[in-house]
Parts: sequence; structure tokens; C-alpha cells
Amino acid sequence: MLFFQKRAESVLPPPPASDIGQLRTRIESQELPHHAREAAKRELERLEKTDPSAAEYGVGLAYLDFLLGLPWAAVTPDRLDLAQAEAVLDARHHGLGQIKDRVLEYLASRALRAAPDFHVLVVDDEDIARANLEHVLRKEGFKVRGAANGLEALAEVRRSEFDLIVTDLKMDKMDGLQLLAEARRISPATRVMLVTGFATVDTAVEAMRQGAVYYLAKPVNLDELRATVAALAKEKTAPASFRSPVLCFSGPPGTGKTSVGQAIAEALGRRFHRISLAGLRDEAELRGHRRTYVGALPGRVLQSYARLGVANPVFMLDEIDKIGKDFRGDPAAVFLEMLDPEQNSQFVDNYLEAPFDLSRTLFIATANDLAELSGPLRDRLEVVPFRGYTTREKVRIAAEHLLPRQLREHGLTHPFPTVTEEALRLTVTGHTREAGVRNLDRELGRICRKLARLRLEQGEGQAVAEVDAALAAALLGPPPYRGETAGAAPRLGVATGLVYADYGGEIISVEAIRMEGTGELLLTGSLGEVLRESARTALSLVRSRAGELGVDPGLFASQDVHIHIPAGSIPKEGSSAGLTVAVALASLFSGRLLRPDVALTGEITLTGKVLPVGGIREKILAAARAGIREVLVPEANRPEVAAMAGEDSPEVLVRHVATVFAALPLALA
Ligand code: ADP
Repeated sequence: MLFFQKRAESVLPPPPASDIGQLRTRIESQELPHHAREAAKRELERLEKTDPSAAEYGVGLAYLDFLLGLPWAAVTPDRLDLAQAEAVLDARHHGLGQIKDRVLEYLASRALRAAPDFHVLVVDDEDIARANLEHVLRKEGFKVRGAANGLEALAEVRRSEFDLIVTDLKMDKMDGLQLLAEARRISPATRVMLVTGFATVDTAVEAMRQGAVYYLAKPVNLDELRATVAALAKEKTAPASFRSPVLCFSGPPGTGKTSVGQAIAEALGRRFHRISLAGLRDEAELRGHRRTYVGALPGRVLQSYARLGVANPVFMLDEIDKIGKDFRGDPAAVFLEMLDPEQNSQFVDNYLEAPFDLSRTLFIATANDLAELSGPLRDRLEVVPFRGYTTREKVRIAAEHLLPRQLREHGLTHPFPTVTEEALRLTVTGHTREAGVRNLDRELGRICRKLARLRLEQGEGQAVAEVDAALAAALLGPPPYRGETAGAAPRLGVATGLVYADYGGEIISVEAIRMEGTGELLLTGSLGEVLRESARTALSLVRSRAGELGVDPGLFASQDVHIHIPAGSIPKEGSSAGLTVAVALASLFSGRLLRPDVALTGEITLTGKVLPVGGIREKILAAARAGIREVLVPEANRPEVAAMAGEDSPEVLVRHVATVFAALPLALA
């Protein structure tokens, strides 16, 4: 025992000196901001006094290693070539026209503000002197214009905004001081610098009193001029003035949000990183634990930067609306701090303690449901809505993007098998039911795996050259989704509704039955309070307008009604089921059957009016996916439907209804 202990001691590394020596070199040689270097030095001092076998020693080492591994100064060089950005976005994505435009506009305005030109107006009535100054300033990279006198100068100031006017004091018609006063009246933010050969203390004082920023004596000291103008220009580019909104991509899953984010990073030549915030419980997960906790770690934000190795990535905060309900701390406050350029240059991680500058990052948030976000946070976000795809769009996306990638990933390249449009259509409609294309991508992957196996089993010569609908059907097996409503028989008291949830639109089935009783209403299913209320409204409406709806009013007193909505999910807005429930009840009490291939959406009033509802496009797409033939939507939703003109889905006929009474005959078999 003793022997082993001795051996163990003798092989213990003699680290302190070398550890500490190495760390000291890193601290000295690495490019660190002052406060980080100080924090590192403090920790190193502490380490020197710590017994290397003590637990704190390891903790201290890990801390220093983390601190020194962060990209304090490392950035990838930014490039912004809009044409190239557009090319990258186009190459990667089918469609998304409006989204691409919004992204390009955002990048353009960001680029302009991040590196704004500094505009200088040089005013002198001596041509040679003026030309000299113009030349010197232009060579420094400023945008320069000249004017030969005060009046010309004012005309220029009216025409465009200058950051600085460098003007001679003594000029005909209007002298420098008059110009100063006039120019500042027209453009209060413009600074003025005076140049004069007759420098006297009095005029200098007067000029400054009137608001000049600087006073140069002739002959002009060019170094002084360059330095002064450069200092003013630098103020303009200071990051504090750069407060652009943060892009927030919202929309159903699989509609290209992440992929557009990646394309932005590629276009800018930046690295891309994404963290998912779904189910996040604790602020400490983001910002770390204080080192006084045993096993404390830095938060996920700084860990990401350590891994990326650069301080200016495109950083996607995925699903900021999906933070766990039991989140400890205020998520909105953390994000505001992370996303606000005025605060995020000083982002504090509890573990690191020394503030880290996030302001060089381009953040992009994603959210499915904007209603979940707090007001101040929403205000900081520029929302770019992503939308579900139509069947035809999905087929194009599959043919042009998903399939070629899957074929390459599965080595099916010599030659590429062709997959017919019918085969893709079958995959889309029979094997996926989603707003985006994630599952479609997965199903195409399945086809490719099976093709790869066939190729190996049958040998190159016999390889499948074309996948048609029949082969796709054989490879994929029986479709889990069929137009389930299409062949169904007309039903009593069962109506199909359209709802809108996080992942896009969906159809729901509303069932109503009646039984002997005392006029009670029973509601079951996954119903929110709003949905319950619209069911009650629907029942009162059907009772009160029994005559118009062809219903026997005597029935209600002796019957209980049970309404069930067997939806797998809780829709975002329950009120839009009102019309569906009313129609189901009218059918039930009048004994007339409802068409199974008609779906409805609309909020109703007690008098039977149909009010507009949200998510119309997603609902119509969902109806098309489910094989519905006709959709009844509120009259007031005409604009949304009109905006879809030109898109496909000829399979679905959309009709507008203004009242429940107009909707009923259309829904009856
Ligand atoms: P989200 O982030 O919205 O959930 P993703 O960006 O992960 O969706 O998209 C899922 C897949 O679908 C990715 O492989 C993406 O490239 C592809 N995709 C989505 N939209 C398009 C599109 N319009 N054109 C081409 N590919 C697309």
C-alpha cells in the first residue's frame, strides 16, 4: 500500500511551474481586452498560491483555459456583396421571393450603417486651396464635395446631408461664420470646421461659441486636419449608434428558417451557429453558474463562442417562444440583454464574470408563435414570416433541392436515378402531412436508402434508372395519409373544421350527438376556454334561429347535447371553430347530413354573422393536404384568399360566407 502511494506520488506531474508558466505566456501574448487580462492575471495569482492537488487548482485551471480560449478578438473578415448574397439564397432555395427580398434589404441597410460613408463639404473661394483640401480628404477615404462660396455650399447642404463642412472663414458674399449659422439651421447634425489665414483668438472663440467643432489656422497642417476629421468620422461609426433590429423568422417547422440563416452566414462569409431554446428551464443554462457552485460551468452562449472560435458569427436563437413555462428568471430580460447592441457589448456570464462583447454577432431569432413573446422583446424583432408550402411548391423543392442532396448523400450518383414528378407528388401527398418539408426530406431519404440497397443487390448494370409512382409506392409502402374525407359518406352532426396551430394548419372533426335529457350541453375534447364559449354561442344560435335552420325547436328542452372535438392539439384560436360547431348542431337537430369533403372556418356572433379569422392560407393548405374539396371561409377573409391567387391548390374550391344561414346549405349533402 505504502509502496503504491509512493509510486503514485513520484509519477505525479510536477505541473505548477509549467502550467503557470504556459498560462502566463498565453495571458501576456494573447490579444485580450484589458478587463479580461486583469481577470486572468488575478486568477493566475490565486493559482500560484494553490496547492496543485487541491480541487480548486483544477477549477482555476479550467477557468483560465476557458477564458483564454474565448474569441475575444478573433473575427472572420466580413464581406458583403449583395449580388453574391442573392446568388447564395437563390441557389439554396426554391421560391421564398419576399423572404429573400426582406433579408437582402436587411443586409444592405446593415452594411450601410455598419460602415457609413463620411461626407465632407469643402468650401473655399480659392480654387487651388479648395482642390488641395478635397484631394487630401478624399485620399483618406471620405466622400468629398467642394463649393466655391457660401451660397453654393448652402445649395449642397440642401441637396444632401454632410457630416462635416470644412470652410474658409473669409469669403465674398457670405463668410464662414454666416455659413456656419445657416448650415446648422438646415442640418443641425452637420459639424463645421473653420479654416482661416487671419487666425485671431477672438474669431476662434466666436467660431466655437457659434458651434464650430474645430478651428484650423492657415497654412493648414495636413496631419492635424487628417487626425481631426478621422476622429469625427470614428464617432459616426461607433457601435452605440448602430441599433438595427434583430431578424426573427417565424413560421411552421421545415419551411426553411434555419436554411436561410445558414445561407446568410455563407453570403457574409461568417460562421453559423444555432442553439435551440425549446424547454430551457433556467437562466443559468444560458449565462452559466457562479464559480462558487460545485461543478459550475459557463453558459451555453459563451460555450458556443468558445467552440466557434470567432466573435462575429451568425447566431440563431431557435424557438425563443418555446422557453419552458417553468423558466427560472425572466427570459425576455436575458434576450433583450443579448440582442440589444447597447447592452450586449457587455454580456456577463456568471462563470466568466468578465463581460464578453456579443455586439459583433448577427443574431437571428426564430419563433413559431409570436403571441408568446413579451412586448419589449417583440419590439426589438423584425419579424419575417415563413409560410407553409403548397403541394406543387413541395414537389419543386423536392426535385430541385432535397432529392439531389439525398442522392449524393447516398452515393447514388453514377448515374443519378430520375424520380418522376408523379412519384414526388405521391410522396408529398400520401406520406407527409406537414406545412414544411422536413418529413418529405426524410421520406426521400428512405427512398434513397432502398435504392442504394437495390443497386448493391442487383449490381451496377441493372440499377434502377427511374423511380416512377408505382416504384415509389412499392418502396415507401402503404401511405399513412389518404384523402380520408374524400370517399367518406355524408354524416349527421359531424363537421370538419380548420384550425391553425404552431406547426401550420390542420383539419379537425367536430362531432355532435343528442340524447334524451333536459337540455344540458356537454363538451369534451382538448378544448380551451375560448372554444367552449364558441360552442355555447353556436348552440344558442341554433336554438334561437331554429326556424330558419330547419330545426324543430321543441327538441331542445328534452334533449342533452354532447359536442366532442377529438383534436390531437389545441389550436391557437378556438373561436374560429364557431362556424363548424354551429353547422354540426344544425345538421344534428335538422336530421340533414353533412358533406365530408367540405371544411369550414369562421367565428360567429349570436345573430349568426360569420366573422373573419386568422391563418387562412395555412388552413386552406391543410385542407388541400387532407383531400378536402371545398372550404367555406368568412366573407371578410377575401383579401387573404385573393392574395393566394396564382398559387396552386386548384383541388380546393374556396367559398366565402357571410352568415351561418348561407354556410349551412353549402355544407349539407
Ligand atoms: P426550419 O428551420 O424552418 O424548421 P429548415 O431550414 O431546417 O426548416 O428546413 C428543412 C429542410 O428543408 C432543409 O433541408 C432546407 O434546406 C429545406 N428547405 C426548406 N425550404 C426550402 C426551399 N424553399 N427551398 C429548398 N429547400 C428548402
